[in-house]
Parts: sequence; C-alpha cells; structure tokens
Amino acid sequence: MSRVSTRSRQRKRVLSTALSAFTCAALVAGCAQQISGVPTTMGSYSTTEVAGLPVTNGPSGPKPDAPDAPLPVDGTDNGPMDRLARNAVADIDEYWSSVFPETFDGKRFVPVKRLVSYDSGGPGQQLCGENTAGVVNAFYCPPDDLVAWDRGTLLPELDNSFGPMAVVAVLAHEMGHAVQHRARTVKPDDQVIVMEQQADCFAGAYFRYVAEGSSRYFQISTGKGLNEVMGVLSFIRDAPGKSDFMGSNAHGSAFDRVTAFQYGFDEGPQRCAKMDFDDVSRRTTLFGSWKAGQDTDLPVDERGLEAVEKSLQEVFRDTGAEPPTITTGQSSCGRRTTPASYCASTNTVSLDLPALQRIAQPPSKEAESGYGDFAAYAQVASRYALSVQKAAGLPLDDPAAGLRTACMVGAWSGLLVEDPIGKRNPVGSLRVVAEDIDEGVAALLGEDSLIAADVNGKQVPVGFARVEAFRIGVQEGMAPCSTKYSAP
Ligand SMILES: [Zn+2]
Repeated sequence: MSRVSTRSRQRKRVLSTALSAFTCAALVAGCAQQISGVPTTMGSYSTTEVAGLPVTNGPSGPKPDAPDAPLPVDGTDNGPMDRLARNAVADIDEYWSSVFPETFDGKRFVPVKRLVSYDSGGPGQQLCGENTAGVVNAFYCPPDDLVAWDRGTLLPELDNSFGPMAVVAVLAHEMGHAVQHRARTVKPDDQVIVMEQQADCFAGAYFRYVAEGSSRYFQISTGKGLNEVMGVLSFIRDAPGKSDFMGSNAHGSAFDRVTAFQYGFDEGPQRCAKMDFDDVSRRTTLFGSWKAGQDTDLPVDERGLEAVEKSLQEVFRDTGAEPPTITTGQSSCGRRTTPASYCASTNTVSLDLPALQRIAQPPSKEAESGYGDFAAYAQVASRYALSVQKAAGLPLDDPAAGLRTACMVGAWSGLLVEDPIGKRNPVGSLRVVAEDIDEGVAALLGEDSLIAADVNGKQVPVGFARVEAFRIGVQEGMAPCSTKYSAP
C-alpha cells in the first residue's frame, strides 16, 4: 500500500473526470442505498454450502479403492509421484470425455498424444525444444501435444507442502491448455494471461466434478481440501516450453488465479470458454503494477494508521454511518479480538499495534513471517466495516456478518486500485497494488485472520467462501455485500 502525492493525485483527477461520474456511481452509490438500509434482497449465500455443494471436511486425495490407470508414461520410474500424476491425467481425461461434447458443439475429446515424466535433478533430455535439466516444472507443449512433469522436485514439493491434490491441480491446469488447443477457445496470438486464466478456470471446473463425488480416482472436501488447492494456484508456473507461454507475470496474480478457478468451479467450462481479453481485462483490476522501484510498503505506525483511517472514512462516508474511533489503547469492551477489536457500545476500534506489525512483516518461507502491510491494515478495515454494519442495524455475530465484512474489506480495497487503462477512479490518496490484494487472499486462506470474521473473531469456516466474498467486493463494490450476504 502507499500514499500518492497531492500533485499526482490532482493530475489523475483531471485525467479521469470524464469517467468518474459513471465509475463512482457504480461502485460507491450502491453502498449508500444498500448498506444503510435493511437488506431487501435475500442473499444467495448459505452457511452450509459452497457454490451449491454441501460443506464437507472429510479426506482429500486419492480414493482408497481407486484403480491404477493403464496410461503409458515415457521416462517413468513407476514411483508414487508418477502413479499420482498418471491417475490424475486419466481422471481429467474422463472428466473432459464426459463434458467436452456438450461444451464444444458435440466434438469428442481426444487425450494428449504423449505423457512424459522427468527428473529435473537428473540428466536432461530435449522436450519441446528445451533441455529439462534443472527445470522444476510441469507443462503442456502445443506443437508435440504432450504433458510433462518433474517427478524429482516439483511434484514431491507440491505434495509435501499442499497435499496430493496440489499435484492433481497442476495437471488439471496443464490439461486445461490441452483443452483450449483442442476446442480452439484461444487463438495463437491471444495474450498469455487469457490462456492462463482459462486453464485455471478449466481446472476449477474439473475440481467441481471431484467435489461432487463423480471422480473414480480422487475425492476432495469443499472445506480444507479446496482451501489447499486455491493455496497452490499461486505456486504453479508454466515451463519455458514455447515462447508465447513465457511472458513474465502473465499467469495472473493469486487473486486473478483464484477468481478464474472459482468461475470454473461455480459456473462450469462454458464460462471458461467465454474468457477473452475483454472479459479478463474488464473483471481484473490488477493489470496495473506500481512503477518499478516505488515503495509500496506502508509501515504500520501512527502515520500509516492515520492514512488508512482517512481512507476508510472516505470510502464509507456515503453510508452515513458515524465513523468509529480508532485507538491503540485498551478495548472498552470486555470482548477482545487480536490484532484489532470492535466495541459496538462505544463504537470504537482498538488495535494491538505490535501484533499488527507482526502481520505486516513481508511474507516469506519462514514460519514466523507475516502476510504484508495490506493484510495488517485489512484487519483494521474489517473491524471498521463492523461499525458500518452496526449503523445499518445488521447483526454482527453470525456467519453472514463474517462474509459481509470480507466483502466490504474487498470493496474498500477495490476502490483504492489504480490501473493503467484508467477504468477506475480510485478514492482518496491511498493506493493498493496487485500484491496487496494477494496478501489479502493469502490471509483469508489462512486460519487466523479477522478479515472474514464476525465481531467475536469467529472466522467463516470455508476458505472458498471467504475468498469469494472478498473477491466480489473487490470486483463489484459495496452493493452486493449486504444483498448477497444478508442474514438467512
Ligand atoms: Zn499455464
């Protein structure tokens, strides 16, 4: 997060005047009408469902009675990683064989020509015009119609860090590229980001099939299981197999990837097939990258807090809610959540500054690292959002409150995004960048964030729903926060 200087802000304001009336009306005006009144539309949200499927917390991974797929794999060592990968491809083949004709004008799905297993730590071989030595990756190679994976490092690392379904997710993504070449849902000169978003979306569609219990090989819980799969999305990358797959950062932010996965999971492969550059650029706000070298780390201190408080007041002003007092002193309520807590009787948000500073540590592989500055300030925003809900007469202590909160934090963040296409007219002088939004996603997928928690700190138990609520706020602004997430 960072502050913009007055000078550049003024310039920006002049440039975006023509757009501002429309953009702000769409993003902010809804908030005055929706949040401050009693919701009139019943939400489509259910605390016992994930995108229409029951919330489950059973096992995720290979089914105990799964068959062994007889697919030939070149270079295999017949070890457990290759067995997992081979069964994943067989399962994904079965999925596409069943849905491909109804999705793509009756066409039949043809499996890829060749599967290759290699060890990135072993002697290299030529694959898709590249030497595989040291290539820790999995990839689809269009000219050869092959899918290859590194059984030596990549697959075991994914399995260790995220569980076996992470390996399945990577292969579902690569097979998504095979699908898009077969169905011609992308053109060879399409932007890499469109291809990547579509592959993530196709992977999401396949995972719904697994979550519905239709897979012969795998099972996944819609609670923790899907959580882990969404966690892995930001780790998978394509191999340098073909030049047009090599654009740096073209895979999308974690936010973009999770969005595409959720679209596939929620709406099926037809939604993925509709993805083109227009669609992708319209719904992501995140093409904008802060100018290289510019500091985007807003320290958690008095000055930073002041800027965030001002920004929250600006974004939520139209709700008419009395802004809460933000203090680093003791909570005036007995009830206390860390690192921030909201006391409804005094309309006060009290903060534990050292705890916030720990969360604001840059993310790293260390166990004690934090999520970054945005993740810390988003927790402050979440308690602020409770005060807006209180003013609107909404309950603060049920699962709908947690999701409304995540949605409103998302809406606040979305209003601070600036993109180079100028589609957004950001509010105030605080800006967030793609990395910030990703910190929010990471914190939401974790176990201990307040971003999707009610006033007692009780987090909505399903990661998929937490991220979805935040995403809807980022993309659509404040209006859906109270309509979609109204009390049951
Ligand atoms: Zn890809």
